[in-house]
Amino acid sequence: MNKGESEQLATSLEEAGCIPSETIEACDIVVINSCVVRQSAENRVVSKVKSLEPLRKLNPNAIITLAGCIVDSDTSKLKRRFPHVDLFMKPGEFSELLEIVRSKAPKHIETVSTHTTSPTAFVTIIQGCNNFCSYCIVPYRRGREKSRPLTEIHLQIENLASAGVKEVTLLGQNVDSYGHDLPDNPDLADLLYNLNSINGLDRIRFLTSHPKDMSQKLIDAVAGIDKVCEYISLPVQAGDDAILQAMGRGYTSDYYYELVKRIRAIIPNVAISTDVVVGFPGETEQQFQKTLELLSDLRFDSVHVAAYSPRAGTQAANELEDNIPSSEKKRRLRMVEDLQKKIATEKNSELQGKLVEILVEAKHKGKWQGRTKTGKLVFFNSDEDYLGQLVNVEIYKTSPWSFQGLFQ
Ligand code: SAM
Ligand code: SF4
Repeated sequence: MNKGESEQLATSLEEAGCIPSETIEACDIVVINSCVVRQSAENRVVSKVKSLEPLRKLNPNAIITLAGCIVDSDTSKLKRRFPHVDLFMKPGEFSELLEIVRSKAPKHIETVSTHTTSPTAFVTIIQGCNNFCSYCIVPYRRGREKSRPLTEIHLQIENLASAGVKEVTLLGQNVDSYGHDLPDNPDLADLLYNLNSINGLDRIRFLTSHPKDMSQKLIDAVAGIDKVCEYISLPVQAGDDAILQAMGRGYTSDYYYELVKRIRAIIPNVAISTDVVVGFPGETEQQFQKTLELLSDLRFDSVHVAAYSPRAGTQAANELEDNIPSSEKKRRLRMVEDLQKKIATEKNSELQGKLVEILVEAKHKGKWQGRTKTGKLVFFNSDEDYLGQLVNVEIYKTSPWSFQGLFQ
């Protein structure tokens, strides 16, 4: 979501007449868009912001901005901590900076239109989160759920498609609850049917789904709508019911197993990814083993694993002791990574020799790169320009993370 919002801000700044700078020293505007979902991310943000102190002296007129989840409603502490920062903007709220930039821009710049070079784009469809999982800081920093009107999203994606975008990823902390706060209560499935009609658009993705809110209607929509990709991001977080309950996730592991089984029965060749937190307060070895068991039973296409990090203000940080030592959290993390590497190696080797269709997204180190509808990353060589095209590639080499293919 941060990546999506950063792209959106960059586009708005360019429309207002800004151009990207080669070096930080040459910048008149710097924006650090922060994520503080874990302490490690917050530490990186803090050191990056501190590294901007010399810029303040070098260019006293530079506008230094700190945005994103590190910014809560009371900015006085941040102002004291980072006196060299001019503006603090809450997640996704960039209007203050844009107004300053627009007021300084020469008048003719206001007519600059959007030109995009990337065939893929992120589009936020619902802000915030109402779930308050006990470990998670997101609802405190991004506020409650607020869906964007369906017509507004349609119009934005129509404009993106006319500018050359072929694939959109619809974003939200919990996209499955899209629309419950809008008149007539459209849901994500309705939105997908609606967007499928946009000319020039080839693919539609969405993330993240909350298992407790994933409806049968949505599963059927993914199976039935041709432009919707067969890829579902479905964070499970833990395999043990007591831990799931302490996390406040609102489902049991049996429910999750059944959901995955149903998704796989209805959507042929679907890829499913998940998120896992290890070392939640009080997680015993046996409870951790339940997570490993679930991962080896369900054999996901990818797993994002994180060590539990207490976030001030959350229920878990307030009420539960962070009693799993860091070395033990790391051991559990590595066990999940090793298991998933083995599963992904096996699963991906099934694509050896197969022909796959990919959307070419970029050139990386001299090779074209693109993804299958199921989100698999494929590289191939060619001197021709295939950016933004759907091409067929035969896979000749597989690894747990990506594929090498021959253009057909
Ligand atoms: N909304 C999604 C969901 O329901 O899981 C995910 C959003 S969250 C910002 C992204 C991931 O960060 C989560 O899936 C979780 O695994 C991880 N995460 C969130 N809070 C965490 C914490 N306190 N410690 C470690 N990992 C955390
Ligand atoms: Fe955080 Fe839970 Fe909301 Fe995801 S669903 S953003 S983990 S509170």
